[in-house]
Amino acid sequence: MFNKIFRSGFITSMVVLVMSFLLIFGVLFEYFETRMFDELQSEAKYIAYTVEKNGISVIDDFDTDNKRITVISADGTVLTDTVKEAKELENHSDRKEIIDAISNGSGKSTRYSNTLTEMTLYYAEQLSDGNILRVSTTQNSIIVILLSILHPVLVIVAIAVILSLILSYRISNSIIKPINAINLDNPTANDTYEELTPLLKKLSVQKDTIDRQIKDAHQKREEFKLITENMSEGLIVIDKNANVLSYNRAAVKLLEVQNVKAVGVLAFNRTKEFRDTVYGALSGERRENCINHGENTYNLTANPVYDNDKIIGAVIVIIDITESVKREQLRREFTSNVSHELKTPLTSISGFAEMLKNGGVSEDTVIDFSTSIYDEAQRLIGLVSDIMKLSELDEKSSSIEKENVNLLELSQEIAERFTPVAKKQNVTINVSGDVAYVYGVKKILDEMIYNLCDNAIKYNKENGNADIIVKTNKSHTTICVKDTGIGIPNAEQGRVFERFYRVDKSHSKIIGGTGLGLAIVKHAAAFHNAEISLKSTEGVGTEITVTFEN
Ligand code: ADP
Repeated sequence: MFNKIFRSGFITSMVVLVMSFLLIFGVLFEYFETRMFDELQSEAKYIAYTVEKNGISVIDDFDTDNKRITVISADGTVLTDTVKEAKELENHSDRKEIIDAISNGSGKSTRYSNTLTEMTLYYAEQLSDGNILRVSTTQNSIIVILLSILHPVLVIVAIAVILSLILSYRISNSIIKPINAINLDNPTANDTYEELTPLLKKLSVQKDTIDRQIKDAHQKREEFKLITENMSEGLIVIDKNANVLSYNRAAVKLLEVQNVKAVGVLAFNRTKEFRDTVYGALSGERRENCINHGENTYNLTANPVYDNDKIIGAVIVIIDITESVKREQLRREFTSNVSHELKTPLTSISGFAEMLKNGGVSEDTVIDFSTSIYDEAQRLIGLVSDIMKLSELDEKSSSIEKENVNLLELSQEIAERFTPVAKKQNVTINVSGDVAYVYGVKKILDEMIYNLCDNAIKYNKENGNADIIVKTNKSHTTICVKDTGIGIPNAEQGRVFERFYRVDKSHSKIIGGTGLGLAIVKHAAAFHNAEISLKSTEGVGTEITVTFEN
C-alpha cells in the first residue's frame, strides 16, 4: 500500500510538472509569436507608407537587419527582394499571406524550414497600386528554443523530481503510518486523521459482527459437544473419504476403541456389517444394521450427509440394544414356557374329563378323577396367578401408592397364614428381629415374603424350621428367610431366580411349584431397589436375604 500511494503521488506530481511546463512554454511561445507579428505589421505599415511615397526603389535604402522585404505584383511575380535577385525567385501567387493580402488587404503566415529548426513569420500588405509588400523575419523554432533551455530545464526537473520524491514519501508515510498503527481490537478508539473515521467505524461494526459470530459458533460447538458427550448413544461423523471428523465418548466406550487418534472410521470397528453400513451411507443410502460386540448387541444407523446434492460425509449412530435383545429373547422363552406349563395340566384335565364324559366309571374313580381335575385346575390357577403377578411387576406398577410398611408385622401376618400348612408338614415357623419400616408397596412386599416362606416350608424336611428375621440399622433393613430344608445344589443356585426354573421339576410339581416364586421375589426386590443374596447348602438348608436401603 505504501508503494502504491508513493508511486501514484510521485507519478501525479511528475505529470503535473511536465504538463505545466509544456503549457507555460506553449503559452509563452504563442505570446512571443503574436508580438513578432505585431512588430512585423507596424514595420510593414511604415515601409508601405515610404514605398507609396517614394516608389519601390526606396526598399534598397532600408537597413533590413534581420528582416527581409519583398514586393510582389498582384500576379505573384516578385518585383524586388532585399535578400535575393527578384528574377531568381519563383512566382509567389500560391503563398498564403499573398492570397490573404489580395483578398483582405493583409495576410500573415508562418512556415518552417526543412529541418524544422527555424521558422519564418510573414506579414503581407496590399499597396494602393495593387502590388503586395511582404516583410518577413526568422526565428528559432520551438524545438530549438526548448533545446537551448534544456540545461536549466533539466536542473529544474531534477530539483522537482527530488522534491516530489521527498514529498510523496512523506505524504505516503503520513497516510500509511496511522493505518498500520490501527488497533483492530478497538478500532474507534484510534486517534487518526479524519478521513479514516468511516473506515474505522466500518471496522468496528465488522469486528462486532465477527465477534458475535465467533461467540455464536463457539456456543453452538459447546452445545453440540455437551449434547453429544452426554449421549448414551455413540456418534461418529465422517467425511466422504470415511475419515473421522468427530466422535463422542460413547462411541469410543461402546466399541472399545483403543487408538482413538486414528483417522479412518474402520479404527472403530472392522466387521463386515459396520463396513457395509458406513460405505452404504457414503454411497447415498440410509443404512441400518446390528453388530455384535463381545456380549453386547448394537444397532447401527448411518445416514449420508449432503451439501448441494453432493455427499460430503455420513453420520453414524450406535445404540446399545443388548438389553432389549435380551428382553425380547426372554419374552420368547417365557411365552414358550407358559404354553408348555399350561399345556400339561390342561391335557390331564382334558383326559380325565373325557373319561368321565364317556361314562362307565365307578363312583370311586369318579371321585379320584374329580380330585385330579380339581388339583390340576388349582395348579393352573396358581400358575396363572403367578404369571399375572409377574406381568404386573414387569409393568413396574408405578401407579401403585407407596407407604411405610412394617416388615416385622407383615412377616408375622404371613407366618400366621402359613401356620396350618407348616403344621401339616411339621415345620416350625418363627418370626423375630427388629421393628423395621420399608417405604414400598405392601402388596408386593407381601408377595415377596410369602413366596420366600412358601419355599422355606415346601422345600423343608420333617420337623424342620423356617425362620423369618427382620433387622435394621442406620443404612439398611434386611429380611432373611432361613430354613433347614433340602438346600439348593451349588450349580443351580445361579439359576433358581429364572422364570420357570426348578431344580427338581417332578418334585416341584408334586408340591405345587410353578417355578415362578423366586422370579416374583427377584422382581419385587428390584421394584424396591433391594438386593438379594442366597446362601444354601444341599441337605442343610437355605437362607435368602433381601437388603433394602434406608
Ligand atoms: P417353585 O414354584 O417351583 O418353588 P421357585 O421359583 O420358587 O419355584 O423356586 C425355583 C426352584 O428353586 C424350586 O423349584 C426349588 O427347586 C428351588 N428352591 C427355591 N427355594 C428353595 C428352598 N428354600 N430350598 C430348596 N430349594 C429351593
